Amino acid sequence: MRPLIVIGNWKMNGNLASNEDWIKTVARGMESGMPSGRKFAVCPPFPYLTQCASLIKEHSLAFLSLGAQDASADIAGAYTGEVAASSLKEMGCSYVIVGHSERRQLHHEVDELVAAKALQVLDSGMTPIICVGETADERNSGRAVEVVRGQVAKQLTVLQDRLADCLIAYEPVWAIGTGKVATAQVAQDMHRAIRLQLAEFDEDVASHVGILYGGSVKPDNAVELFAMPDIDGGLVGGASLDPQDFLAICKA
Ligand code: PGA
Repeated sequence: MRPLIVIGNWKMNGNLASNEDWIKTVARGMESGMPSGRKFAVCPPFPYLTQCASLIKEHSLAFLSLGAQDASADIAGAYTGEVAASSLKEMGCSYVIVGHSERRQLHHEVDELVAAKALQVLDSGMTPIICVGETADERNSGRAVEVVRGQVAKQLTVLQDRLADCLIAYEPVWAIGTGKVATAQVAQDMHRAIRLQLAEFDEDVASHVGILYGGSVKPDNAVELFAMPDIDGGLVGGASLDPQDFLAICKA
């Protein structure tokens, strides 16, 4: 059985005061226990990782892990502004998002770079969350599955059976931050397509990999999405900024 995983992606939001409020609220909400067989994590901006790690510890928030939003494809060296996966591990991260569509679009990241980042994350003992997804134009022209299969294929080429230790996040670009959530069936169909593609490579990898859905996940659509057989949780942007919404999605 794959666990249900909910991961909050704060993107470039938060500050010392609001982060503290968020962790305190989530700690209170999780105090009464959480549904079993689930995992939860939050991915703040790099500068706040230490703060959030110590708040999580201070509030004994055993249910909540820490993640980062990106990592370098290189081990160490003269890469100004980059952050090494090993540093993220030292700061207490368990997960790292790689290949988010905002990185692909705004920073021209390509599949090969995304796979190299995932390798660094794995080598540092953390779980990469590899994002894939089609644009509105690609979906409207009937190429959604082909595009996503192409992105997954590039990861398989590099990562091979190490993909079993990764998470994949299917995030249709047209659904991110737009309020236009994919219907549970549209999302399920793509998750199924991804799982079948993994099974063509290796049945074992296919049954192990958690495939999260991302794109306008909210408390009121999470139940239906998470009930789908191939949807193993969510990568939540906007709604994760509100601790009550995040808690509601975690419990969905
Ligand atoms: P959203 O973002 O929930 O605000 O649509 C999801 C994401 O980008 O991971």
